[in-house]
Amino acid sequence: MKVLKFGGTSVGQVESIKTVLGIIKNNIDSKQKQVIVLSAMGGVTNILVEMGKKASISDETYKITLNLIESKHYEVITSLVEIKAQSKVFANVKLIFNELEDLLNGIYLIRELSIRTLDLLMSFGERLSTYIVFECLKSMGENVEFVDARKIITTDSNFGYAKVNFKETNQNISDHFKDNKSTSLVTGFIAASPENETTTLGRGGSDYTASIIAAALSAEEIEIWTDVDGMMTADPRIVEKAFTLPSISYIEAMELSHFGAKVIYPPTLQPAFAKKIPLSIKNTFNLAHPGTTVSDKNKKTDFPIKGISSIPNVSLINLHGSGMVGVAGVSGRLFSALARHKMSVILITQASSEHSICLALDPKDAKEATRIIEEEFENEMASKKIDKIVEIKDLSIISIVG
Ligand code: ASP
Ligand code: MG
Repeated sequence: MKVLKFGGTSVGQVESIKTVLGIIKNNIDSKQKQVIVLSAMGGVTNILVEMGKKASISDETYKITLNLIESKHYEVITSLVEIKAQSKVFANVKLIFNELEDLLNGIYLIRELSIRTLDLLMSFGERLSTYIVFECLKSMGENVEFVDARKIITTDSNFGYAKVNFKETNQNISDHFKDNKSTSLVTGFIAASPENETTTLGRGGSDYTASIIAAALSAEEIEIWTDVDGMMTADPRIVEKAFTLPSISYIEAMELSHFGAKVIYPPTLQPAFAKKIPLSIKNTFNLAHPGTTVSDKNKKTDFPIKGISSIPNVSLINLHGSGMVGVAGVSGRLFSALARHKMSVILITQASSEHSICLALDPKDAKEATRIIEEEFENEMASKKIDKIVEIKDLSIISIVG
């Protein structure tokens, strides 16, 4: 069993969808059972969000955009679905677009776009792309099934960034795929709340869908098909000599994906790592390239350092003072205070003298964090044991991973 995921650019246009169909067909021929997870057609999720925003402020131009994305989907049907089957597929896709139109009209009338409605709105991208690719394969004579992920992946009701209920989800997935003999096409990114409402796994979440399914089925491998050759040693827009890494460990990949290398959605690595399922990143637009494999096989390489990545625009907050030296519990109080206010910290250091603790934060949190820390250490500051907090702005974090 193999799980393949194709991203938005891979299913973005007729030509690339042809390549995707070829990759899926090759796997079917090799008798390797597979589950295919798809993203929305490139750019469609953003367009859905934009249309929703426009509708909510009574800007009727969303209707023009709706026609445009409708044609974009129809073009795929016209080009890739066998003529005999086209009218039925057009009719089904039209039904989905009618539902989308009604939803947008609803947003327009009530002039409000809640995060809950936004998730429902965004779900149309994956539902459309996956259904259409399913029909393309079917009209090529393949034995395929369409799976709406909302039937198998359940989450909490944290719309926009829902948390997966793994106990239920794993059970649903193994039940669903138990006697399944066909190739399944599953909508990425979307899931359902306990009340059966549509949720999403966070932007870029289709990668995560693939990993969740692969882990539940103990798949042999995961392939993430995207539009770059794999994970690179650095951001090629910043570092001219960056190159693609042939292999990397889960932990290294997690670090690199958190520190700005946007090739893979970071939560994706966890389910794969837990089950030790190798995950490779491959390029739909460069089939000859072997890509990057993420696994626990720590292959010996000439590079002890695997990559350099960076986060631009962070603020540094410095807590320092002579009264901190040798006193236990200062950092405990500092981070507990921040945690109580749900502040997330990007990087922490403490000088070996214990004279200062530095933390890096998103600049939008820096002011509030300063207030929280000053409140926590009010007494120490009044007696000059701890100095006033200083925020240093406009910094970047550079991280060396290896
Ligand atoms: N279509 C969703 C997004 O653009 C999910 C994905 O592509 O992974 O965020
Ligand atoms: Mg993606």
